[in-house]
Amino acid sequence: MLNQNKNLKLFKLISETAAENGQNVFAVGGFVRDLLMKRKAATDIDFVTEQNGIELAQKIAEKLNPKPKISIFKTYGTAMFRYQNLDLEFVGARRESYSENSRKPAVENGTLEDDQKRRDFTINAMAISLNKENFGTLIDPFGGQKDLQNKILRTPLEPHQTYSDDPLRMMRAIRFAATLDFKIEENSLGAIKTEAERIQIVSMERIMTEFNKIMLSQKPSIGLKLLDETTLLEKILPELTALKGIEEIDGQTHKDNFYHTLEVLDNISENTDKLWLRWASLLHDIGKAPTKKFVEETGWTFHGHEFIGSKMIKPIFKRLKLPLGTEQKFVEKLVRMHARPIALVTDDASDSALRRLLFDSGEDLEDLFTLCKADITTKNYSRQARFKENFEYVLRKIKEVEEKDRIRNFQPPISGEEIMEMFNIPPGREIGILKEKVKEAILEGDIENDKTQARNFVIKEAEKLRLKMK
Ligand code: ATP
Ligand code: MG
Repeated sequence: MLNQNKNLKLFKLISETAAENGQNVFAVGGFVRDLLMKRKAATDIDFVTEQNGIELAQKIAEKLNPKPKISIFKTYGTAMFRYQNLDLEFVGARRESYSENSRKPAVENGTLEDDQKRRDFTINAMAISLNKENFGTLIDPFGGQKDLQNKILRTPLEPHQTYSDDPLRMMRAIRFAATLDFKIEENSLGAIKTEAERIQIVSMERIMTEFNKIMLSQKPSIGLKLLDETTLLEKILPELTALKGIEEIDGQTHKDNFYHTLEVLDNISENTDKLWLRWASLLHDIGKAPTKKFVEETGWTFHGHEFIGSKMIKPIFKRLKLPLGTEQKFVEKLVRMHARPIALVTDDASDSALRRLLFDSGEDLEDLFTLCKADITTKNYSRQARFKENFEYVLRKIKEVEEKDRIRNFQPPISGEEIMEMFNIPPGREIGILKEKVKEAILEGDIENDKTQARNFVIKEAEKLRLKMK
């Protein structure tokens, strides 16, 4: 299996070194899976030996030029180093037993088969021998190869036990299903449903690593629907599952905002790989559950859902341990602004309204429009095309205004210092008032974004404040 492999020389070296040291060695896990799937060039390779993994890593490293720096994790019996853009990890085969409250097992030395048994899925539990007597042979005790062909995720051991032992595996199952387009085997899916409660012993950071891989998959709704079906989603992001359902009063209904959101997420994923823009689409209507109301005459309304939704972003990011800096602010801003462009899709949208949108969205203008276009979920193709074109039209008009007025990344044409200098006044509230007036006048289109015009405007406005020129 390894004859054509571009790392063949390295594997031979590992093989020889292990033999010299009286050890055996196998490549295992994701590397074997991806090799059989012809999926992607390896970036990290895990090796298992039935003897001492740290010792083996040290012997191998000594033979490499330049000699790599080894990181050793004694408690796990693991050693790793980087070699030619590959992360190589060596570990002694282990046998695990779990306790009720932790996903960290008690570990003892074991055989290769013990080590394969403790792995999450049959497709991840295959090994390739690097030993002389059967170099390159696949060792597949749980039918991983067959499951790979049939695109099935199955646990090597009893699924309830497997998921209960380490509930992170539930997230991994769904992540692999989403990214590889595999089915989770029926008993396994059932087990995830019954063990879902156990997710609470997993750290939020680990949950989110998997969640974000689902978010970055080609069609994220596949993973999100599985998370929903297994009840994991309502435990992780109840604000989202709260959008589910359609209510009817007086024969009037509204759309199911949960499934609408998943469509928007899939739409946007066709146009962007930016994780946080995808998050913005996932959360764009999050304020619709708390704002839903039935009003006689108008029917269902979600008045203010953009604002309420934007206020929900920070607490959600905090709880999910997502980054609270620019990422959170970006999502918050897009959620708050996502209905703004639609209001400008009319022929009489004024230049000043266009300038205000440009000013408020700043460098996120394009992302905002990408979100708006993804938000079109009508199944009627001609309407879909027309709505998209409407947004393109607004965007073109904004760009025209932008060229004229340079509103994006707005820098006031006249500074506070200049104003103080003009009127010979110390810092004080007048400066702020005048600067705000200049900005407003530019956005309104009363003056251009230009120094002379701004200066003359300030002189006029200053008179009203009884300020005199020097
Ligand atoms: P990728 O690196 O492409 O995300 P991978 O399968 O290599 O996928 P890793 O997290 O690198 O995933 O783990 C390497 C191997 O370790 C897996 O293939 C699997 O055999 C095993 N493994 C990882 N996490 C678990 C777990 N929670 N429970 C059981 N086995 C696991
Ligand atoms: Mg890996």
